[in-house]
Amino acid sequence: MGQTTRTTKLLFDFSGRSQGGANPGKREHLAATVEILNAARRFYLDFFLAHSDKLTERVKVISKKTGEVREGVISADNLLTWAEFQTIETAEHPNPLPDWNFSKAFPAFPNRYRRSVMKDVIGKARGYLTTLRKWQRSGKKKGKPAIPTASNHPTLYAGTFTLELDALDLRKSFIRLKVYTGSEWVWVHYPTLYNRYFGRRRVEPGWETESPKLILGKQSATIHCLQSKTITAKKIVESKRDPDLVTVAVDLNVKQLAVITVRQHGVIKETRFVSDQGLDQHRYQHLGRVAKKQGQSGRAVKGERSNQQLWAHVRQQNVDSAHQTARAIVEVCETYPGCVLVFERLRKIKASGGSKSKRLNRKQANQLKGKINQLAKEKAYAIGVVSVEVNPHGTSQYCARCGCKGVRFTYQAGQRVTGKGGKLFACSACHYECHADFNASVNVHHSFFREFHWQPRAQKSG
Ligand SMILES: [Zn+2]
Repeated sequence: MGQTTRTTKLLFDFSGRSQGGANPGKREHLAATVEILNAARRFYLDFFLAHSDKLTERVKVISKKTGEVREGVISADNLLTWAEFQTIETAEHPNPLPDWNFSKAFPAFPNRYRRSVMKDVIGKARGYLTTLRKWQRSGKKKGKPAIPTASNHPTLYAGTFTLELDALDLRKSFIRLKVYTGSEWVWVHYPTLYNRYFGRRRVEPGWETESPKLILGKQSATIHCLQSKTITAKKIVESKRDPDLVTVAVDLNVKQLAVITVRQHGVIKETRFVSDQGLDQHRYQHLGRVAKKQGQSGRAVKGERSNQQLWAHVRQQNVDSAHQTARAIVEVCETYPGCVLVFERLRKIKASGGSKSKRLNRKQANQLKGKINQLAKEKAYAIGVVSVEVNPHGTSQYCARCGCKGVRFTYQAGQRVTGKGGKLFACSACHYECHADFNASVNVHHSFFREFHWQPRAQKSG
């Protein structure tokens, strides 16, 4: 039994196409909202750093499970309640700390937004204090951790903001949202790009809805709907005993992003190649431009994309193709209920050597592999399919049919050319020839069942 989560995104529609409540200030309201949220974060960051003793206070904690009493660091919830008492005006408590009166500084600030801001800042401030203490203990002079800033969220772009919402006020094609106009807080209807995919995922049985998140950018807004599901899956050891077990093996590569082979009763039943559709080449060209620009002075040229934009583009393409490939892998798994998904433990292609753009491109290819691996495992788990990793030793060098060592080769102008980078594989013992990545993918099954002598002995079974 386990738990898995997933996110479905709903974009706001700023195309102007939709006439729903024509309010020209809607975009500007978002920018103003991001700004005031940042100011609120600054407020609480300063507040917590001024009360750093409280952040690390040791309190008695009673375990809910055992009733045991032990000492621990004050919980984020208790800290939040304490901070509210110090900073918020209420009927019972009309006088918060005079220097830290949030109610006065930010009148009518929505409570749920404030709590989201506070929770986020508590994490940030604690993280800072921990690294600061480590640094102080290390006795080093250099590398003093910088005081965290309010605006940039580590996982988001600058000027972007994430907010936890209690509930989603979602009507068919728009969302009702409280935003700041620059002078007051108002409810505004935002048209969305509501689609059937989103609608279907929200009501899919077995998925529990968690609190949604609002990701506010200066020009954009997205709702991230979180869902969780409880998974029951067989243990690998149990599955391995099943004589009818289907194994789905994946070999991850650069140009053929994934070669998926399905095996049952010792026979390959299905093969699927997922090509990168020219991504590697495309990315290489972009990174060439990035590398060239890094050598030049920092001034931006009008009409030319900046390195930041190029990176964002490259990253986005990587994410998209990781999702597509992972989906293809899981689609195959879906057709064989109860199957086991087998990966090789990731090998890194060396990023060193060659031109700068080549090195950058290798790094990106490595990251893409890691991302596909991670996403496929998550998506597979969500449908109850367990993944295993096997030792990558030998899968690309040995023959998947007889287990003897072979060579890689390619055809150039009708001539066989043997070489490391060859697309094809030839066995020197049984003269079997096939696509090298297919051969590796089939070997992943052998590795899982430990059928050939080329596998390392000291490997634990999954
Ligand atoms: Zn062979």
